[in-house]
This record gives sequence, C-alpha cells and structure tokens, in this order.
Amino acid sequence: MKFNVSKVREDFPILSTQVRDQPLVYLDSAATSQKPQFVLDVMNEAYQQYHANVHRGAYWLSQVSTEKYEGVREKVAKFIGVKNTKEIIFTRGTTESINIVCSSWGQENIQEGDDIVITRMEHHSNFVPWQQLAKEKKANLKIIEINQDYKLDLESVQKAFSGNPKVFAFTMMSNVLGTLNPVMELTKMAKDKGAMVLIDAAQSVSQMPISIDELGPVDFIAFSAHKMCGPTGVGVLWGKEALLNQMKPYQFGGDMISRVQDHQTSWNELPWKFEAGTPNFVGVIGMGAAIDYLQSIGMDQIHQYEQKLIDYTVNEMLNVSGLKLIGPKSPHNRGTAFSFTLEGIHPHDLATFLDVKGISIRAGHHCAMPLMDKLQIVATTRASLLFYNTKEEVDLLIQSLNEAKKYFLGGQK
Ligand code: PMP
Repeated sequence: MKFNVSKVREDFPILSTQVRDQPLVYLDSAATSQKPQFVLDVMNEAYQQYHANVHRGAYWLSQVSTEKYEGVREKVAKFIGVKNTKEIIFTRGTTESINIVCSSWGQENIQEGDDIVITRMEHHSNFVPWQQLAKEKKANLKIIEINQDYKLDLESVQKAFSGNPKVFAFTMMSNVLGTLNPVMELTKMAKDKGAMVLIDAAQSVSQMPISIDELGPVDFIAFSAHKMCGPTGVGVLWGKEALLNQMKPYQFGGDMISRVQDHQTSWNELPWKFEAGTPNFVGVIGMGAAIDYLQSIGMDQIHQYEQKLIDYTVNEMLNVSGLKLIGPKSPHNRGTAFSFTLEGIHPHDLATFLDVKGISIRAGHHCAMPLMDKLQIVATTRASLLFYNTKEEVDLLIQSLNEAKKYFLGGQK
C-alpha cells in the first residue's frame, strides 16, 4: 500500500487536537513519539481483558498475559533481524539497557588503563555511565570528535582506536545533530581492535529498518519503545547470548532466580536473568503493538517518506536568513532531528513564541552537554519529525520562524 500521511495521521488521536487554540503541530518526536489508537487499544485490552501478573499463575488470565508478554520477544527479534529470543531483554528503556551493559559487562571486563571509546555526540545516557565506569576503574574515556560538517572526524576515530579499546559505545543517530553514523565501518574498526561494540539505537529504531546482521558484528543494541510509537517505561537490550551468559545479573529479586536458599541463589536462564521483579508487562505488550503498527505501514515506506521530509526541511531551513543548522547540511545520511540557532533570538524565547502558534518544539541542551560545550553554545532549538509530520507543518514552522524574527528583531533582519 502507498504511504498516505493523511491516513496515517488519522491513526493518532492527539494529532487532531488543539493546543492554545491552534491545531497541534508536534515537532518533538526525538524526545518521545505520539501513540496510535491501535497501541492504546491493545494496552487497554490488556488491562481490561487479561490483566494478571506474568510467569506467576497456573490460572488462565496469567497464562494469557504471559503468552502475550513472551510473544513480544519474537516480534522484537524479527523487527531487528535476530532469531534467538533469549537475547531480547525487556528493560525500562535505552538508559537502563545501557546501564545494564555498563554495570554487568563493564564491571567484569574493564580494567585500569583500558580505553572506553564513545563519541562527542552521545546522549547523556550513553555518556555518563561510561564516564563513571572509567573513573571507577581508572580506565581512559576517549571521545571521538566531530568535524565541521557535524559528522565523526575520521582522524579522531583512528586516534581513538589506536590504543587499547575495550568498548566502543556509540549512537546510530544523534538526537541533537541528526547525524547518522556509518555503523558498519565503525563497528568493523572497533572489532578489528577487539573492542565490545554497543549501539544506541534510541533515535534510529523508528526511522529505518534495522537488521543486526547488516550492522556488522555488534554485541549490544539498546532502544526505547516510546520513541517508536509505543508506551513509556519500556525498552529493549539485545545482546549476544554468549556475552549475556557471562554477565552477572543487574538487579536481584523475583523472576531472575532459579533457586533461592538461605545463603545462596542460582540465576534464571536468559533472558529472565536480567528481568528482576514484576516487569512492565502491559508496556511490553504495547511495544509489541507498536511494532505491529510500524510494520503494517512498512519500515521501508516510513524511511522513504521521512527522507522526502528531510530533503524538504533541510532545503527550507537553509533558506531562512540568520538560521544556523547545527547538523549536516546534506539531506543524505541524516535523520529527522534538526537543531538550529536563529541569530539574535534565544532558543527558549523562540520555543515559547512557537508554542503560542501550536508548535511544540524543544529548546535546550538535549541531554548532550559535552556536545554543547564543544560547540560553544548553551542551547539550540530542535525540530524533530516523524512519519506523521507533513510538509505543511514544516512550512508553518518556517513561516513562524520568519515571524519570530520580525517580532524579536524588528527591522534588524
Ligand atoms: N540515546 C539517544 C540518542 C536518545 O535520543 C535518548 C532519548 N532522548 C536516549 C538515549 C535515552 O532514552 P530513554 O530516555 O528512553 O532511556
């Protein structure tokens, strides 16, 4: 079926609402995506028709709930192109997924003098855990810098891998710059040096088909359901079975055990070893519905449509005088997050001005302070789009930016 954005928009109740007496123009999907009615219905059904704790009861309700919950593992596995459902761990989101690896794998494997390699464009959730691990272990945190075009600097990449890299943790797509990193090449370089590779797919997972086989020999991938039209509070850590088996549990409690005695406990098998306590099973079921929804449209179709939106937005933004795009200017190899500054107007003032027009847009450091420091800016305004956005919404944004210039700068611009 051909992609039809008007039809798609009808699936999202919030997109036909008004804010401040204006039709909502939601341009903050990099922070969190909106949810289609389908996902809301599936979660409602879970609460209303088969709600019971998973892995607990011999009774019908709990069996249905467990089947639905466990069934999502297969959906996730297919969605990211892996076969082994033991490798799919349900977490609270990208942040927790990364922390699991950092704690459980990092504590065992990082030693004094090792290099932990990350990039300048990491979100705090893929920055701070590694920074803290490096401090604790007296390891070296190496940061790959970006070039003038807001892409990873090749020289800096080579320098970072020249020592003794034990870990390379990097984002597939920057939530600030929109830059898409060349995952295969980078993974190969890191692997050639024997490093463990973790990919933060928080931004990319909703934008393009992901097949782990095609990404190269990566070890872990982390993502959140709420960025891909699913609920908040749930996400995925995919990891290679052999590595997950070697790792200690992240948390202790119910479900992650096999046998508990007074003074010793043995662990459950994968994936439950990493799922202590009552999981967010309704959230997981909602994530399964989100995957079904995205696949009913088709990830290829989503990607193609978004590429057209990217082409259009880059072009339009570059025509606004005083606007500086903080991200690649080429529409190729970039995602749908567009950070920018508008000369003479503070990003927070701009966001407030746009809000009055119904445009929800983010201003701030976008959880990437080390990047902001390097760029010597305190904040940017960020428009981030998803497949439910339209060219008309981009037009409205551009028109409003021009109005903001008149409002704040008067005759100056
Ligand atoms: N990495 C990136 C690139 C992100 O954009 C985000 C969310 N903004 C995260 C990690 C953290 O995701 P979460 O808050 O869902 O754990």
